[in-house]
Amino acid sequence: MPLLYSLLDFDNSPEAWERYDKITARELFKQFGVSSRLYKDAFEPMLLVGLFAPGEQCSAAATLGMLYYFILAHQANFDVVWCRGTVGEMIFKPWVDKIESNGGKILTNKRVTDIIVNNQGTAKGVMCDNEIFAADAVILGVSISGIKKIVSQSKVLNQYPEFYNLSNLGGIDVLATRLWFDKKVDIPLPSNACFGFDKTTGWTFFDLNNLHDEYKALSGSVIEADFYHANQLLTMNDEQIINKVHQDLTTCIPGFANAKIIDSRVIKVRQGVTHFAPGSYQYLLPAKSPIPNLYLSGDWIITNHGSWSQEKAYVTGLEAANLVIEQLGGNPAKIIPVEPDEPHIQLGRVINQNVRKIMNDIIPQFWLP
Ligand SMILES: Cc1cc2nc3c(=O)[nH]c(=O)nc-3n(C[C@H](O)[C@H](O)[C@H](O)COP(=O)(O)OP(=O)(O)OC[C@H]3O[C@@H](n4cnc5c(N)ncnc54)[C@H](O)[C@@H]3O)c2cc1C
Repeated sequence: MPLLYSLLDFDNSPEAWERYDKITARELFKQFGVSSRLYKDAFEPMLLVGLFAPGEQCSAAATLGMLYYFILAHQANFDVVWCRGTVGEMIFKPWVDKIESNGGKILTNKRVTDIIVNNQGTAKGVMCDNEIFAADAVILGVSISGIKKIVSQSKVLNQYPEFYNLSNLGGIDVLATRLWFDKKVDIPLPSNACFGFDKTTGWTFFDLNNLHDEYKALSGSVIEADFYHANQLLTMNDEQIINKVHQDLTTCIPGFANAKIIDSRVIKVRQGVTHFAPGSYQYLLPAKSPIPNLYLSGDWIITNHGSWSQEKAYVTGLEAANLVIEQLGGNPAKIIPVEPDEPHIQLGRVINQNVRKIMNDIIPQFWLP
């Protein structure tokens, strides 16, 4: 219950981020009297799969935002779910078809290396190694690791503190594996979140025979197992990894002991996902960059929409596209807001904001936020 106050107080505003960002999730839970068992069995697993890191490495602000969006605001339908089919086929292919049918051209295998600006400091093109693409506006939709790499080799972006300060942000190592077994194992649920195997690593596994039509008729189980904050696993070779995953799956579902792995795929992604570390908010960027027609999108971009992860990457992409439309003309995309707060949460937030405002007006602000 005491933690509920923080959830009311954290309204996703810049002030709320500043109030909570410099403490860790673990400190926040401790401060609000969360028991050791509740932290270990509930909050820490949620952090390991929601923010991809253990509580002592997560910003309390990001924790409150993620917990509110994924769990509290969706109590009726909170679950770990997977796309029915591959994301490439089900989501990206229809987008690609639509963009192409509207005359757009999608170029793959082109790595952006710099932005070209004119004398007024406005972007006029994008550089991909030796190729130049002219542009009226540019949206960079890359991860933190991606933008740090672009800035490090750019002659333009590394002139701006907003961009060179991005070196203070980081990513988290993740590991994705797919295993093909020689026989079907009975798996009660298609999507599963797991913890307690490695101290600071969370993982999820999915029964793909159940989720992807292409595997439905196979005589053996196909499992996707993804590990977050997988630093120590990335130093293992593929054989060690496969054995470990098989062992961990067997701990969850003993039937895996009798199934043999006949094929496998291991993908190691160093610094693959955004690390919302304590103190990171001051370096995150909004969609508008210091270059007037250069915009940013991604799951690390500041927005007051309230969504997280993939949905936030999508929403910030639409927000950036709408900024371009505002500048150059066109019909803006409709962005669906997150579900409104429940009435008692709305009331609590209004009361809290008013009390905070009165207190700020009468008490000088010399304490740390
Ligand atoms: C194993 C795993 C499981 C996950 N599970 C979930 C989940 O269940 N739900 C959820 O919501 N989120 C999940 N996430 C997080 C989710 O994938 C991210 O939040 C999301 O992909 C962020 O999107 P983005 O567009 O910001 O960045 P990215 O998805 O990283 O996309 C950036 C793109 O930019 C490209 N790029 C980088 N540099 C350059 C360059 N110089 N030039 C051109 N292109 C460049 C990259 O190749 C990449 O394709 C998961 C992540 C991982 C790794």
